[in-house]
Amino acid sequence: GEEVTPSVFLNGPSLWTLPTPRPEDHKYRRGHAVVVGGGHMTGAGRLAARGARRIGAGMLTVACPDVARPVYQMDAPGNIVTAVEGAADLAEMLRDERYNAVLLGSGGGRGALLGSMVLAALETGRAVVLDADALTGFADDPAALFDGITGPTVLTPHAGEFARLFPDLEGDRLMKARAAAQRSGAVVVLKGPDTVIAAPDGRVAINAVAPPTLATAGTGDVLAGMVLGLLAQGMAAFEAAAAAVWVHGAAAATHGPGLIAEDVPEAIPVVLRALAGHTED
Ligand code: AMP
Ligand code: MG
Repeated sequence: GEEVTPSVFLNGPSLWTLPTPRPEDHKYRRGHAVVVGGGHMTGAGRLAARGARRIGAGMLTVACPDVARPVYQMDAPGNIVTAVEGAADLAEMLRDERYNAVLLGSGGGRGALLGSMVLAALETGRAVVLDADALTGFADDPAALFDGITGPTVLTPHAGEFARLFPDLEGDRLMKARAAAQRSGAVVVLKGPDTVIAAPDGRVAINAVAPPTLATAGTGDVLAGMVLGLLAQGMAAFEAAAAAVWVHGAAAATHGPGLIAEDVPEAIPVVLRALAGHTED
């Protein structure tokens, strides 16, 4: 019969070790993350950038259409902002190997343009996170996306986005996520109250700690940025995804009712401090 990898319930930092800043570090050693941000819808990219920086990415560049640069720059003085109008610009930018992880789909639902940027990013073999429109843009031809995956890649669909990319998969959420990871060759984060993280090799985990206050606009964008930030710091895709999901839930749980997406990145340091205390004991 089929070999079944045991499921892991994420109740805390059991599967991974978070990167910790060391005295010999400098910002370049802590990764240079790239958020490809939308030109009109800028909220998602700004939330993702915040999540990536709070989880510890050493540097964060927002790559966006020139017209939107002031929005991302004014949002946070620590953002680096650079103009990228399409796939050729992005490929040119990524020739600089210091950019070591890229997120697409945080805004910029520009159909074929976003799709071509996704394929350009994947072609570099760099660590890539794909969310929202970067996934559903391939609903008509998912194989075009899967065939493009060459490096460590994390897909972060919610149930609706997942169904558009994997319409034929059946079974429970765990089975579906595992099959999707095997088919795509990417780590799949199937989001929801019980987020499932699945790797192409069959490893799977279910997050047990996420408050329902997360069901509000923008929290998924923060999560995508957190995965990005951990990949930029050198974590492997499955561990980065699992750690980001758990810390995201734990950060939200430091608040009660009234949580908004902007609160989640700001609560990350509280969780990281508690984790650091935990490992030093
Ligand atoms: P998105 O659907 O892209 O906006 O992402 C929403 C985020 O909130 C994901 O990380 C979900 O796992 C999380 N989330 C949504 N609804 C719930 C819920 N009822 N309980 C816990 N987490 C949730
Ligand atoms: Mg979303």
